[in-house]
Amino acid sequence: MIDIEEAIERVRAAANVLPGERMPLADARGRVLAEDVVATTPLPPFDNSAMDGFALCANGNATAVGSEFAVDGEQAAGDAARAARGEACEIMTGARMPDGYDTVVPVEEIVVLERDDAQRPTRIRVTAEAHPGQHLRRAGEDIAAGMVALRAGHVLDPFACMLLDALGIVDVAVRSKPRVAVFATGRELVADPRRALASGEIRDSNGPYLEAKLREAGAEVVRRATLPDDANTFVAAVREAVGAGVDVVVSTGAVSMGRYDFVPEALVTLGAETVFHKLRLRPGKPVLFARLPQGALFFGLPGNPVSTAVGERLFVEAALRRMLGMADETRWRLPLAAEARKKPGFAFVQKAALRVHADGSVRAHPLRGQESFRIAPLRDANAWALLPEDEECVAAGTLVDVLPQSHMCQALAVDSDA
Ligand code: AMP
Ligand code: MG
Repeated sequence: MIDIEEAIERVRAAANVLPGERMPLADARGRVLAEDVVATTPLPPFDNSAMDGFALCANGNATAVGSEFAVDGEQAAGDAARAARGEACEIMTGARMPDGYDTVVPVEEIVVLERDDAQRPTRIRVTAEAHPGQHLRRAGEDIAAGMVALRAGHVLDPFACMLLDALGIVDVAVRSKPRVAVFATGRELVADPRRALASGEIRDSNGPYLEAKLREAGAEVVRRATLPDDANTFVAAVREAVGAGVDVVVSTGAVSMGRYDFVPEALVTLGAETVFHKLRLRPGKPVLFARLPQGALFFGLPGNPVSTAVGERLFVEAALRRMLGMADETRWRLPLAAEARKKPGFAFVQKAALRVHADGSVRAHPLRGQESFRIAPLRDANAWALLPEDEECVAAGTLVDVLPQSHMCQALAVDSDA
């Protein structure tokens, strides 16, 4: 049995980056950039006013309190470039600075001395010292033309898209989504929620879970089925999926030591190369990882729902990141909020809630009910806490590795100095 770090390394080594495809930015939301995006225009695109007020020409000098200016016209957002006329003009936030003016004085820092018939200011006095360049947003101050706006591997979340939309990016190259097939095995499983359960049956929750989770993790789930405990049916389903060009097959159940645990044997029939089977991990000890003949990756996750969830998070998402051209995930290190006991010799992945405390610390709270069949505690979970293999008792306050619910989470970057 290998440990989870070795297992994750083997998964990463087996996963190849997928090709890129070009598409309109509007269709690429949530996808992962395959190429750097370079700004072809500066942002802001021109010098413009940061305030409603007056633009004036001070010839590069400070403007003293009490200085007076004749006001000639106005410049509003959307008005084109023009040369300065006279000493000053009224200017609005976002309006392009007329050429020849160098200072913006906010409306709060002037008094109007004279107005025309339409009540527009024609003469003002400055009531606070003003300096050239103040309240001016310079062209390219946010991003200069030629700069990399976003790097390959960046997720096109709403923040990233705001930047690209501001730059007028038409289309982007993104990684193809990994195409995944999900098979939940078990003759006890009922997929149709309207069907009453017969004696001994349970609902299939792993199948829908994986479909939703993998989609959120950047994959496209192209096949999903609930299958009986029958090796032949399973082999046929996997063959069909591979024939249809899936990159990854994820199954749940039938991967441990029970009489009906046929997955290891089905993989032999399929001609797969098993990379590992069984890990020093709880829950999820029987996880199996293999390479299918045409190169697709196979993850056999144990059927207990929490084992499935842990296996997906630790191993499948590690592969997806590589396929999507993303950097390998850096775990968070956070203090455990309460003591946790575990069996030594196995890493224990705990359902955990990250909570912000009054002292400003964020701590990982191990949740009650860590058994792998219990899914109700996941209601309160937003992360996994990884307890090290050797320990039997991890004291409150110990720093442990933490994984947020999804690898797509960019909420907290890990400080590389830490
Ligand atoms: P197995 O790994 O097939 O031995 O299954 C382990 C446990 O997980 C058993 O209690 C199964 O009934 C349960 N289980 C297996 N597959 C699923 C599923 N798709 N949804 C919910 N529970 C499952
Ligand atoms: Mg089973």
